Amino acid sequence: MIERLLNPWIRDLIPYSSARSEFSAPADILLDANESWEGGNSGINRYPDPLALKLRKKMEEVLSLPLSMTAIGNGSDEIIDMLIRMFCIPGKDSILIERPTYGTYSVFAHTSGVDVINVMLTPSLDLDADAMLETIERKKPKIVFICTPNNPTGRVYPLSVIRAIAEANSGITAIDEAYCDFADGFESAVSLINSNPRVVVLRTLSKAYGVAGARLGILVSDPDVQRVFMKAKPPYNVSSLSQEAGYKALCEAEKVRERVRETKERRTAFSSYLASLPFVEEVFPSQANFVLIRVQNAKALYDYLVSRSIIVRNRSSEPMLDNTIRITIGSEEEMQALKEALDEWK
Ligand code: PMP
Repeated sequence: MIERLLNPWIRDLIPYSSARSEFSAPADILLDANESWEGGNSGINRYPDPLALKLRKKMEEVLSLPLSMTAIGNGSDEIIDMLIRMFCIPGKDSILIERPTYGTYSVFAHTSGVDVINVMLTPSLDLDADAMLETIERKKPKIVFICTPNNPTGRVYPLSVIRAIAEANSGITAIDEAYCDFADGFESAVSLINSNPRVVVLRTLSKAYGVAGARLGILVSDPDVQRVFMKAKPPYNVSSLSQEAGYKALCEAEKVRERVRETKERRTAFSSYLASLPFVEEVFPSQANFVLIRVQNAKALYDYLVSRSIIVRNRSSEPMLDNTIRITIGSEEEMQALKEALDEWK
């Protein structure tokens, strides 16, 4: 099923067999991987677990993601890059993305010599399902990336629409759910994988779980896709320090839930505040940990905030998003400082 979608050199690849992946039993003496026999007391003289088993078992328990369906990337960015390299033939295949959306899908496609087909969102920033279905039929992209909640709009797309697109698409449909923890009543595309193994889902511990610096992305997929990912990825792609940081973050699930609740509350209050400002023309309703606004002059506002030592993201270069600014929901103190600066902006 997945075999026929792979590019031929990945399909035929004889994977590198790392020292650590050739045995699974506990052992006392490790003389197999040319590591240093000593390295202080941090334990990082040893290579990390290529399977990130301890972390993935914790993910199974906390995130209800079955062990046989998960793999860890060095951030979900690495997984996006890997998916393109696993499935796309440079100079021949294409990916399809909605625009505006997260920028790395097209950057990684371009670094692999893969074409990018853009389908614009509707004027209300929803997925244009008809245009996507028509383009999929005509151009046969190898991967369709859908980001929900979408970055930078904060919009969630209905699972029924995603299901219909994934069924019509004979290639891979990759659903990026990086911000799903901040969405109300979110219906994950993980539920589609059983009946459609061409669906893969991307998650990350960089947002709600608060360990962006550790670079921990999650590929949730059919075990067949997992097997290909495991043979194509760099053997030790996620450091032991990162695996441990992710494990600890997952052990604090209650704290994470509380932080997410607080972030959502602050998002609602901050969105209302933004709507009351005379120079804010539109506040886009967000289901993520950021809010997108349209203002009279995004560049002037951006520069002003920089002068107040506050950095937001000017998204005006994206199609349909002229004069827009994306603001991450920060701490109470950070949002207060931002409000004071905005109150003084004329
Ligand atoms: N997907 C989306 C939609 C994002 O916004 C981001 C980061 N901004 C990523 C993926 C990358 O996440 P990670 O830190 O896991 O590489």
